[in-house]
Amino acid sequence: MEEKTVHVLIDGATSDLTFSYLIPEGLDVAPGQRVRIRLRNRPAIGTVTSIETIDTANLGYALKPIDGVVAEEPFLTPGLIQLARWISAFYLAPVETVIRSMLPKPSRGEHEKRKKEKFVELTAAGKNHGNSGEKLTAKQGEVLDLLQEKGALSLAALTGEYGLSRSSIKSLETRGFLEVGERIVNRDPLRDVEYAANSALELNEEQRVVLDSILEAGKKIEAGEPVKPILLYGVTGSGKTEVYLQAIQETIREGKGAIVLVPEISLTPQTADRFKQRFADIQDQVAILHSNLSEGERHDEWRKVLEQKARIVIGARSAIFSPMQNLGLIVVDEEHENSYKQDIIPRYQARDIAVVRATIEKCPVLLASATPSLESWNNTLNGKYDLATMSKRVDDQKLPLIRIIDMRLESKKVQSGPAILSTKLRQSIEERLADGEQTILFLNRRGFARNILCPECGYVANCRHCATTMTLHRGDDRLICHICGFSQLPPTRCPECSSRSIVNAGYGTERAEEILNKVFTDARITRIDTDSMRKKNQLRDTLNAFRAKKIDILLGTQMIAKGLHFPNVTLVGILNADVGLHIPDFRAGERTFQLLTQVAGRAGRGELEGEVVVQTYTPHHPSIQHARHHDFEGFAEQELLMRRQFGHPPFQRMVLVTVRSVHQERAEFSLKTLHARLKRELPEGMSLTEPLPSPLVKSHDQWRFQIILKGANPRRMAAHIREVTRDLTFPPDVIVTYDVDPYSMG
Ligand code: ADP
Ligand code: ZN
Ligand code: ZN
Repeated sequence: MEEKTVHVLIDGATSDLTFSYLIPEGLDVAPGQRVRIRLRNRPAIGTVTSIETIDTANLGYALKPIDGVVAEEPFLTPGLIQLARWISAFYLAPVETVIRSMLPKPSRGEHEKRKKEKFVELTAAGKNHGNSGEKLTAKQGEVLDLLQEKGALSLAALTGEYGLSRSSIKSLETRGFLEVGERIVNRDPLRDVEYAANSALELNEEQRVVLDSILEAGKKIEAGEPVKPILLYGVTGSGKTEVYLQAIQETIREGKGAIVLVPEISLTPQTADRFKQRFADIQDQVAILHSNLSEGERHDEWRKVLEQKARIVIGARSAIFSPMQNLGLIVVDEEHENSYKQDIIPRYQARDIAVVRATIEKCPVLLASATPSLESWNNTLNGKYDLATMSKRVDDQKLPLIRIIDMRLESKKVQSGPAILSTKLRQSIEERLADGEQTILFLNRRGFARNILCPECGYVANCRHCATTMTLHRGDDRLICHICGFSQLPPTRCPECSSRSIVNAGYGTERAEEILNKVFTDARITRIDTDSMRKKNQLRDTLNAFRAKKIDILLGTQMIAKGLHFPNVTLVGILNADVGLHIPDFRAGERTFQLLTQVAGRAGRGELEGEVVVQTYTPHHPSIQHARHHDFEGFAEQELLMRRQFGHPPFQRMVLVTVRSVHQERAEFSLKTLHARLKRELPEGMSLTEPLPSPLVKSHDQWRFQIILKGANPRRMAAHIREVTRDLTFPPDVIVTYDVDPYSMG
């Protein structure tokens, strides 16, 4: 008998399991739909990956029907299913895991969790009550009139805003004039915000060229011609965002949708507002997926996309999985940002996924940055991507003057404690205070002291669960491990030798704030880091206060490095440019260059000219020197040359294989076994390092060892690993992870 069956990929299995089920009469099921099924007589959930009509009579066994659907509509578009398979093969993760990570949490379970509210509505009798002749109290009359006027209202609004009593509503309900029912409501976190529309700006020549090339790519695709991803290399303040806004406008006009990825950290209320303002007339078609939203709010924003009500999505990494149909454009802002790489399974790089999705969906993709990643830059050199350039700031403003201060000389001047402020930086801040201009100070380390140590015996406070030092946080009066979060009271004497002369080594934002307050007694100083911005909306309020010039000096971690635009800021100080420069990671230099350039881009974005002061102990480092001269191309050339020599990405690709266990020997032993297997039939063109301890050899009580597989083709490397590990099992306490194109060398 010919019957319609579905292939269902089962949730939660350790490897991908697919079974066939029958579709019961009267149920509509499509690929991408989430369904409830029974597996070995236990309830389970899965995703329909395809539908097939087969002759069930010849199967030799009976298929079970699916039990039901999680929601009426499929959560995944066919394009997303295809993308999930791609990610699974490339990043060595089960398709099932990839699919689940594409869905917001409240939608992953047996039933989609939706917020419901009680709604009150007039019945036919209620609508007609004027003719019924029944006696009503004044209050009851009021309720009916209000509903007559407004249609349905939520019970909460009736009793709250309109101040009507529950008892009059109840009695009207008993008398059959109105009905109380439940409705699903979508929370809109920005519901109460009114956006003043701002219209498109007249583009300058450079912007126009870029916009045209994006639109041109769209037209070519429609004509069936191949196009390449576009890398927009535009200096900070060159008006990149304005170009995206206009490209999106055009996309919407053509009836298509757009996804804009921004790094989590720069997804500030300010960025969101810019999009909401431009699209104020279609405000509810813009979905914003921030991490500041509650899980429920994010889910509702995602639902708006699923229901095709939202046609523009702005969001961090996972927004690339928005179930948008008829995509017309994908933009990846600040494409060099490391936060596009997910550090848990599936370990995908959202920027690269954006390119893959654009190919699947047949739409243009724009990657943009003032400091492109060397991967993308190299792709323009080898012809895989098209390059678009915007080299001038809007209105021809000059790039800020960058001064490098050698802190080796400065630290000789201070009597005690760390050298936090050079003479030059202190003077520059004083000038700004005198002129009523504002300063941003940047320090990428939170806490008070980097660690505490005993000068008598050399004791250093280490985390007992990780191979790292503990950071002193004065505000909480705790030593805190930034790896695992373990905390303890700071000792008053040395735990080893009982000496009382324990010292604070190095400094973080907390200590810098304390010193700034001592030096600039009259200045209004505010610190922005994850410790000081724990309350909801605190960041938004602080940034607004800064914009309103109620703060003179803003001191912060990378939370303030990106995407912020304050016309009155004329000075940016980088307190310690060396944080992050000397870690064992081939990208350390690239990151430092990017960070300096991005931070410097915060200065002088208004009418006033900007100045940047960079304090460093390694003033001649190429990253610092190239950043000083605003010379991305020079930096890229030198760095790529070095990467080529050392066989680092982008020339060779990597898969980082890490083995972890609470038992050191078992981790080491398992890695050796795996190493031997990988090496035995190592395909041509691949190489393998010897097993080594990870740079962070212990974390969260687990020992960590690693090998790196290198080669030109990550797909082939993934295939080799899959082949070798197919029948390999490890002890239960041993965890093996594969990280393709890793961003943290662990
Ligand atoms: P980027 O994203 O490259 O850093 P933005 O798009 O934020 O630059 O632009 C910087 C500032 O210049 C913003 O205030 C923006 O409104 C303004 N701007 C951008 N394009 C134009 C233009 N064509 N004419 C006038 N102002 C512009
Ligand atoms: Zn000691
Ligand atoms: Zn720890």
